[in-house]
Amino acid sequence: MKITSNFDSGNIKVIEAVDPLNIQLEINKDNQSDFFQWFHFRLETTAFQNHKLHINNLENSAYPDGWEGYHAVASYDRQTWFRVPSEYANGTLSFEVEPECSSMYFAYFAPYSYDRHLDLLAWAQSQHACELETLGETLDGRDMSVLRVGIPSSEKKKIWITARQHPGETMAEWYVEGLLHKLLDDEDPHAAALLSKAVFYIVPNMNPDGSVRGHLRTNAKGVNLNREWQTPSMENSPEVFLVLNKMRETGLDMHLDIHGDEAIPFNFVAGSEGIPGYDDRLKELEDSFKAALLTVTPEFQDEHGYPKDEPGQANLTVGSSAVAHEFNALAYTVEMPFKDNDDLPDPDYGWSDRRSYQFGQDTLAAIVNVVDKLR
Ligand SMILES: [Zn+2]
Repeated sequence: MKITSNFDSGNIKVIEAVDPLNIQLEINKDNQSDFFQWFHFRLETTAFQNHKLHINNLENSAYPDGWEGYHAVASYDRQTWFRVPSEYANGTLSFEVEPECSSMYFAYFAPYSYDRHLDLLAWAQSQHACELETLGETLDGRDMSVLRVGIPSSEKKKIWITARQHPGETMAEWYVEGLLHKLLDDEDPHAAALLSKAVFYIVPNMNPDGSVRGHLRTNAKGVNLNREWQTPSMENSPEVFLVLNKMRETGLDMHLDIHGDEAIPFNFVAGSEGIPGYDDRLKELEDSFKAALLTVTPEFQDEHGYPKDEPGQANLTVGSSAVAHEFNALAYTVEMPFKDNDDLPDPDYGWSDRRSYQFGQDTLAAIVNVVDKLR
């Protein structure tokens, strides 16, 4: 029996793996940081034999509440990721499996590999009306890439979509993949309607270093990018520095920053009601977008989410708040669950890569309802 995580976005620490009925594991912290929650590893063993796995020390993880009602994700072929019934007690997540093959993968959520990221960029830039731009380099020397979709002109609205500032939130890039496939489908009516009025700037992965390193929340040197938007620097947060500069160059009329939430089992958005200068226009834009999304998909709801910020109390180091403030624009943080959408639960798959993909497509349809009101 062997447990390994020496691959793209792998993360596990083996404490003991001798007896299949008593496999003891922990999760490594993000480099130079105390955050940990993302795991991804492969079990090689004898098929059709019972195994009990325990991931320990989770009371010290970034979001201990994230483990209540959470079920681990697994795959044999690295294509289909299903849920393994799991239990959480006293800081330990435990699950039992009888593998149907000698090799089985486990992860916190369906991984989105760096190769798949490169494939997405390469495919997109080969489509009509899409251009790939490299803004600069990350600390590990990876490309910071933005896709421009649509022909820029001064009358068109500029819509920015960024994903995966927190690299373990892989659902965010599945969402972008769905959104891009729809936006670049030249027979899609929502895409046609939007591209006659808007240009999209899309960053499918804001944190490629953290993604490859198997981090939950930070970049190569342990910096949480979604707290860097007030004072980004090439030394600590080149990812944000480069993207924010590009936003200033293109202008910005709408921004969606795509995330996953460990604890809350619903899809929801967090707005900019707490920024200085929040007014009726921004409120109306936010309400129109939410109303449209509620109409488009029952996967979205607006009852459960983060507490609203008091007026003037927004944290302006957070991406969507900083952007809403600087550009006086509609900006939302979009959150998807790691667990499931409790309004439409699916015990076999939970919230999944495919549902994230579909949610990205549905979001695009909802933007049609606000595009004329932007700016
Ligand atoms: Zn996040």
